[in-house]
Amino acid sequence: MNTPIFLVGARGCGKTTVGQTLAQALGYTFVDTDHWLLETTQKTVAEVVASEGWEGFRLRESEALHAVTQPAAVIATGGGMVLAERNRQYMREKGKVIWLAADAAVLAARLEAQPEEGQRPTLTGRPIAEEMRQILAEREALYRHAAHHIINAMQQPAAVTTQIRQALSLAHAS
Ligand code: ADP
Ligand code: MG
Repeated sequence: MNTPIFLVGARGCGKTTVGQTLAQALGYTFVDTDHWLLETTQKTVAEVVASEGWEGFRLRESEALHAVTQPAAVIATGGGMVLAERNRQYMREKGKVIWLAADAAVLAARLEAQPEEGQRPTLTGRPIAEEMRQILAEREALYRHAAHHIINAMQQPAAVTTQIRQALSLAHAS
């Protein structure tokens, strides 16, 4: 199997961290839609949102998804990638979709420890734990619907990586 592996989930669930480890273990390329956007637009997520609004950002996010999708790649997607039906459908058709699931409190603690404010504008301006609860309430069904496999992301990154490989029956590097 060398179909692309899409990692979905809220900010802080470990898409970048786990994605890099997983790609290395499999000998796959690692790509990140947020990183692609940054390189292509030469703007941070916050700057794109400021100049083009969230709607403009979502369009660019779909564009990024198409641009980075390739065989033998682990693709970390932006937290809101699943919001658009077109993106969910595209990922399910083109590859395997993994939801890295974690509680709001865990996500909030991780983001507070490393906020990277420029990269990660808060969506609501409210405390981060509250915001993560609201985001999960809104998106959980979408992550679940998009995913071929749901992985508990509240474990050490190495354990998360192993579980993904088991779920996909990718026990050996290829
Ligand atoms: P995402 O790309 O999904 O937004 P990141 O990979 O950037 O998430 O991780 C966000 C923060 O949480 C980082 O500081 C990272 O080191 C930490 N982190 C990610 N995965 C785990 C994990 N499984 N256990 C503990 N901390 C983690
Ligand atoms: Mg990331």
